[in-house]
Amino acid sequence: MSRSYLAASAAMALVGVILAGCSTPGGKSAAVDDARLLEAEKDGANWLSYGRTQDEQRFSPLSDVSDTNVSQLGLEWSYDLDTARGQEATPVVVDGIMYVSTAWSMVKAFDATNGKLLWAYDPKVPRSKLVEVCCDAVNRGVAVYKGRVYVGTLDGRLVALNADDGKILWETKAVPDGSPMAITGAPRIVKGKVLLGSAGAEYITRGYLAAYDAESGKEVWKFYTVPGDPAKGFEGKHLEAAAKTWSGEWWKLGGGGTVWDSITYDPQTDLVYFGTANAEPWNPTPRSPKGGDNLYTASIVAVNPDTGEYVWHFQETPEDRWDFDSNQQIIAATIPIEGKPRRVLMHAPKNGFFYVLDAKTGQFISGKPFAQVTWAKGLDPVTGRPDIVPEARYEQTGKPFVSYPGATGAHSWHPMSYSPKTGLVYIPANRAAQGYMAAKDWKPSDVGFQLGLEGGPLSMPADPLIRAAAMADTTGSLVAWDPVAQKARWTVQHPGPSNGGTLATAGNLVFQGTAGGEFRAYAADSGKQLWSYPVQTGVIAAPMTYSVKGVQYVAILVGWGGVWDVATGVLATKSGTVRNISRMLVFKVGGKAALPAPPPEAKRVLDPPPVTAKAEVALAGQNIYHRSCHVCHGDGAVAGGVNPDLRHAASLSDPGMWQKIVHDGLLKDNGMVSWKANYSPEQIESVRHYVIRRANEDKALGGK
Ligand code: CA
Repeated sequence: MSRSYLAASAAMALVGVILAGCSTPGGKSAAVDDARLLEAEKDGANWLSYGRTQDEQRFSPLSDVSDTNVSQLGLEWSYDLDTARGQEATPVVVDGIMYVSTAWSMVKAFDATNGKLLWAYDPKVPRSKLVEVCCDAVNRGVAVYKGRVYVGTLDGRLVALNADDGKILWETKAVPDGSPMAITGAPRIVKGKVLLGSAGAEYITRGYLAAYDAESGKEVWKFYTVPGDPAKGFEGKHLEAAAKTWSGEWWKLGGGGTVWDSITYDPQTDLVYFGTANAEPWNPTPRSPKGGDNLYTASIVAVNPDTGEYVWHFQETPEDRWDFDSNQQIIAATIPIEGKPRRVLMHAPKNGFFYVLDAKTGQFISGKPFAQVTWAKGLDPVTGRPDIVPEARYEQTGKPFVSYPGATGAHSWHPMSYSPKTGLVYIPANRAAQGYMAAKDWKPSDVGFQLGLEGGPLSMPADPLIRAAAMADTTGSLVAWDPVAQKARWTVQHPGPSNGGTLATAGNLVFQGTAGGEFRAYAADSGKQLWSYPVQTGVIAAPMTYSVKGVQYVAILVGWGGVWDVATGVLATKSGTVRNISRMLVFKVGGKAALPAPPPEAKRVLDPPPVTAKAEVALAGQNIYHRSCHVCHGDGAVAGGVNPDLRHAASLSDPGMWQKIVHDGLLKDNGMVSWKANYSPEQIESVRHYVIRRANEDKALGGK
């Protein structure tokens, strides 16, 4: 294997801070220090960190915009972005200046009152990195601290910018050299350190959370989430203990458990909490053939913020085999448990259960499904361990298993919010089933996804009746969840999944953008829709709010994309034909700006060459496609819109050009790298025949 994790790890040890220029910024902008972060809850004018407060409640005490006047909310300013991929970031606003990251890890600073661009930074991520990311070239946000703006880049750097002018102060390699890891999550500041993990548990990776000195970028501590090769010794007793929950030679496949999104600091417990991803690969047989829980994957882990030492863990999905990442946002809050106030963590991970844990000890308090769950009957009331149904262990039955939820999760990274006024958690939830089937004789490949699953047999059939049924069954919702009673108080249905994150405010409001292209406000207590604005594109990011000189603004980054668009094929259109028109939008009561008209849409007609190959050739191509191609070009060769739809590719009619692109890597600078290390020219040709067959099937059904 050319991308050996161990070789990469050794190289990493030699690479420290690679650019250490002058490190003292002017300090005029982004004057955020520890005292200010600790007081953030009362500071409604500012939104100082990704989740507004370090406990990540995403609740604003501002109430000038409220359920009585939200109907007068109008656009105040907008800014057209220079990327057209999924926009997932929540801006940070400090003293009237907005800092926001966009797709491709670019950063912009605006005057938050009028949208005047103050500076822009582009880390120039090589576009060939795209093949090593599951879920689009996204970035979820920046951190600001003492005159610096921090961003993690898709190609694995942590960059510190001068908040005054956007110039680089330093950058540090934050993933091992040559690793397929990517950074999509927002860094968090805790006690003078920048905390950051990385994505990539669908590849050969070993997850970790690292802390870097905020001033110099030097690594202070690193917490590995899975044990490495025992022969090399463990990096702590917690990993020695974790190794007992694995079997075989798991370290050769990395182990997974990446820390790609949630990092929460609770000043009340002085603990840092983070969620970990699935074990790698998804199919447990290759990674741990004799079973085992595979700690600390699909878990919440608590560590000491000063040292990174292990404090406790709670595993939500033992021996995960469905990609049930626990990376979703962790909220720390004080809620009544059996009549007494208790500091808890609240979590709605991909697996479909809503968990309440004791924040100090990790003790399971309660857990109930907030979505349909078919892989488990429920949770043990004492331990919180799931009661897994036998059919869900697809690698043992040898049969396919269709699970609710699937890998896109009953809830994913889309931030939820908690209102202490209503006591409710507002969850952007998904209903999307997925089939799983163990691959026979699976071996890891050099490039692309490493799941250990068959894909082709479970891809969307062309049969219009089956498609219609799958479309009807795939939806989304906004769920207002009572974490004390463990039940929904109200629910708003959406046509499709992957709607935006939520914001709760003291004005009795919940804001959410939809995949169908609206930005909406609901009454936080009742769920009644009070306002809607058409934003011309699907929304996946979360809104935020701030005030400058006594005027409250509500902001949201819009631009459809992310995993739901790139990977799910025809289901990506469930919310309608949603284009990517990436913009920053800012609203206020009485705002009178108009959104520029959307650019005209190109008309597309399916015009594929005729089917000439034998059925078995296309079938071989289908299996390759669904092991390696579908994650970017969509299930069933139907692309959502952000990535090229291969059914329309000119090279379908030009086998020589198809080989130049897929085998030789002609378009590697666009993200389409060479696949010659994995597939022969004949196999690559079989994929062409599969796509031709799919394009003809859809043309016959009147598809586009
Ligand atoms: Ca995952």
